Amino acid sequence: MSHLAIDIGGTKFSMALFREGRMVRRESLATDREGGRDWMLSRIAAIGASWQDGDHFRAVGAGFGGPVNFATQQVVLSTHVGGWQGFDLPAWLRERFQAPVLMDNDANTGALGEGLHGAGTGFRPLFYMTLSTGIGGGILTEQGVYRGADSYAGEIGHLNVRPDGPACLCGSNGCFERMCCGLWLQQDYGRSAAELMQDPEFVSRYVVDLARGLKAAVMLLNPARIVIGGGISKAGDALFLPLRAELRRQVTDWSRARLDVVPAALADDSVLWGALELARQAEGL
Ligand SMILES: [Zn+2]
Repeated sequence: MSHLAIDIGGTKFSMALFREGRMVRRESLATDREGGRDWMLSRIAAIGASWQDGDHFRAVGAGFGGPVNFATQQVVLSTHVGGWQGFDLPAWLRERFQAPVLMDNDANTGALGEGLHGAGTGFRPLFYMTLSTGIGGGILTEQGVYRGADSYAGEIGHLNVRPDGPACLCGSNGCFERMCCGLWLQQDYGRSAAELMQDPEFVSRYVVDLARGLKAAVMLLNPARIVIGGGISKAGDALFLPLRAELRRQVTDWSRARLDVVPAALADDSVLWGALELARQAEGL
């Protein structure tokens, strides 16, 4: 008996098979924007079926790259991953794999993954931020994921770090995500985020906005640790050393709040490990 974990993101989607809490199979594919949702569903069905091997999954967990209403298990909005709004993904998965399903947004799912199996283990409250195609945040307390009244807690991506900045997809201006995420970096500078992070001069400017967003999390939550996952976090010290210095500069001596910011330990698998935890929760429902 096994658990199926799914991570649907803006540029790729991944699936993993867990047996006795160990990842035994993993597959990752680029998100085919042309084929869209139907293409991805057909891949999920095919890969899942090939892993089932006549067996049933105990449960399925899914992290989705956009706002999810956890209470109703609905995708609220799919800006980075098109075509999912209003589609009942959990019902489709339940029907397809004949197993209980639980879905959350990928930042909350990543927070669960890093908080229970990665760089956030033992650190509570934990603030997890995904820095990739977009920006999302997840808050993990001793009691579990803190989702707020309407599943919107932690949506730090649309905090305004530059009120006079360029228009964001959400309708506001100079949002944290607008200034710092991979999608917009590529559009604004014509270079990939990975390439830009190798340019110390660019990074020295970039961390100013990045620290502004993170400072909000520090001030509001006083987290024991901040873990940053997603593609851009792979830049390592080239990003994290200047980021820590800038954060120490912005959070003045007045505050004794700890400033512990580290990259995700599970690399591309934070969300998959979190989806394992969602699957385990689904089993208990
Ligand atoms: Zn915005």
